[in-house]
Amino acid sequence: MSDLERWDGAIWRPLVGDEANQPNRRPIGFIVHTFVDHPGPTDMAAYFDRDGIKAESTFVGPRFGTAIQIMPTTKRVDTQVAGNLWYHDGEPVGYASVEMEDDGDPEGIPFTDDQLDQLVGMFVYMNDIHGVPFKWCASPTSPGFGYHSMWGFVDNVNLRDGYLQNPWTTSRGKTCPGRTRIAQLRNIVMPRAIEAAQLQKDTEPMTPADLKTLGAYFDAAHIERESLRADIARVNAKVDAAVAGQKGRTKLLRRILDRLKAGG
Ligand SMILES: [Zn+2]
Repeated sequence: MSDLERWDGAIWRPLVGDEANQPNRRPIGFIVHTFVDHPGPTDMAAYFDRDGIKAESTFVGPRFGTAIQIMPTTKRVDTQVAGNLWYHDGEPVGYASVEMEDDGDPEGIPFTDDQLDQLVGMFVYMNDIHGVPFKWCASPTSPGFGYHSMWGFVDNVNLRDGYLQNPWTTSRGKTCPGRTRIAQLRNIVMPRAIEAAQLQKDTEPMTPADLKTLGAYFDAAHIERESLRADIARVNAKVDAAVAGQKGRTKLLRRILDRLKAGG
């Protein structure tokens, strides 16, 4: 079962270094990143576990197969600078995140079908277990879903006083996870996640109370059917009697006609 710390749709492979001591914070949202690795399969979990690698995401999404969870969802992850942890009414909050494998070409290589499935599952988990609303973050500290560059790629529009005004990155020119993948998030992942969450809600296992209600309904339906059967029997009996009466009268009429013909 999924819980606050873990999504059961991912392989659990927690980082074992200093990351285990990172502070707890409540995840109010979920941010998608692209990993920019080398072509071919990359062990992203092992990369984040290396000494000297300070950043880490909550999940990693390989191009093929199942997502891997490397940090408890309840712990701070360091993938989006000011969005990692802050205090809201005294409570530590922040964004959970995922790094998606891209073989070094996030614009040219879209998310695979496996990765789309992984992302849909993560979105549903974050909504279901952590209450993250199915909407794109309205600001860099709003609840919801987001992607790293959503407050601007570096261009003249997004530059103010010579600095990029995206509080989730310190890098100029950050386009993560790339326009191709951003379009997939908006056009495929979010709608599919909303649909899947609805389906999950609609197919919740029945509670004992549900079963009792359903049992009472079937009992009532059975009784109704029995009384309907009795009604039909009564109607049939009346029809039979009427037909028998008609036959009796017809026989009587025939006998009278026979007597008249015989001149009796
Ligand atoms: Zn990123």
